[in-house]
Amino acid sequence: MTTDTRLDHALRYADFGWPVFPCYSARSTGACSCRLGSSCKHPAKHPHTRHGLRDATIESRQIKRWWNKWPDANVGIRTGTDSDLLVIDVDVAHGGPDSLRSVLRRLGTLPEHPVAKTGGGGCHLLFQHPGGRVSSRQAVAEGIDIRADGGYIIAPSSIHATGSPYEWRVDPEKTPPPTIPELWLEWLSSCGHRDTEAQDIDGGCWGRVVWDGVALDQVVKRSIDATLPAAFGQRHGCLFRFARWLKSHPAIIDAPATALKPYLRQWHKAALPRIRTKPFEDSWFDFAESWEKVKHPIGAGPMGDILKRAVAADPPIVARQYEQNQLRLLVSLCRELQREAGKRPFYLSVRTAAEQIGISPSHAATWLNGLVIDNILKRVRRGDRRKREASEYRYMGD
Ligand SMILES: [Zn+2]
Repeated sequence: MTTDTRLDHALRYADFGWPVFPCYSARSTGACSCRLGSSCKHPAKHPHTRHGLRDATIESRQIKRWWNKWPDANVGIRTGTDSDLLVIDVDVAHGGPDSLRSVLRRLGTLPEHPVAKTGGGGCHLLFQHPGGRVSSRQAVAEGIDIRADGGYIIAPSSIHATGSPYEWRVDPEKTPPPTIPELWLEWLSSCGHRDTEAQDIDGGCWGRVVWDGVALDQVVKRSIDATLPAAFGQRHGCLFRFARWLKSHPAIIDAPATALKPYLRQWHKAALPRIRTKPFEDSWFDFAESWEKVKHPIGAGPMGDILKRAVAADPPIVARQYEQNQLRLLVSLCRELQREAGKRPFYLSVRTAAEQIGISPSHAATWLNGLVIDNILKRVRRGDRRKREASEYRYMGD
């Protein structure tokens, strides 16, 4: 069907924004083309270059250099945030298809996604990486692995050690990787065990993003970098991810979408070459809708955990002067937030305080002011209430 060389395929993947690197190939005997030959434990599956997936690039000059040198090299694609890819790896030999069917029944269907048949008879299902960190994991279910951060896949046009080719069943050019449904993301981030080969990559499943005092404009810049579309057809999903990234910053977590319009303009300008829907307002409306809908900011969960700790701990001595349980809890929450922030001030918005403690925002505003008056909190910087910005505080109690 295709006379494209391995190099053509590698360049096409790079065009999608997927960093590639050369892997060893199989000899006609099935032995690996590496030094170990038939005693190689991962024939035709391991990197040809010294730093392996860390050498992966989208730079065409380097890609041409590699495949001119090794025209038969199999094509490795780095997965994870660098390629914006999350891959479900279904292994036929270990019951993968049965597992997949039962997970589909439990969690619901997946949006249409690219599918590659692997040379080993299994398949790779490609999705957009959700941002943050998703570890590569083994055995999330029988015969199912996840290739994400710290991982890679061998891609079509490559030849398996058995001699059988990797082939696209659903081509990514016609069907770009879609966003993976939240339920699936939660499932695959919590099951199985982390890929041992990816152990050097830190972070949890999709561990929290700790901005740790990084200036807001830096955060915006990183969020843009992490969520630009790699190819046409990803605009909508990427906007949703951009909203999730921005929502991870405590200073703007409660801001109305309109306050973020300037950031969206930056994103839009950078994304223009890779989106088909060009008008700014279309992306703006989609973003504004996503912003309201985002349930899991990148790094979701920390506030909930902190509240749990605040509830579990004995209230600080300074809190004993207050009669109301919820006010004592607010003091306890501030102490935990300060512990979390270390030496830096911590962020807290009126709205978050209200939600966590279960009181009205105006009540929370009065209480936070009161804690400042009672010298339990020091307000380091006051956030703009109209923009629903968080203020920065230091906890001064015990
Ligand atoms: Zn080998």
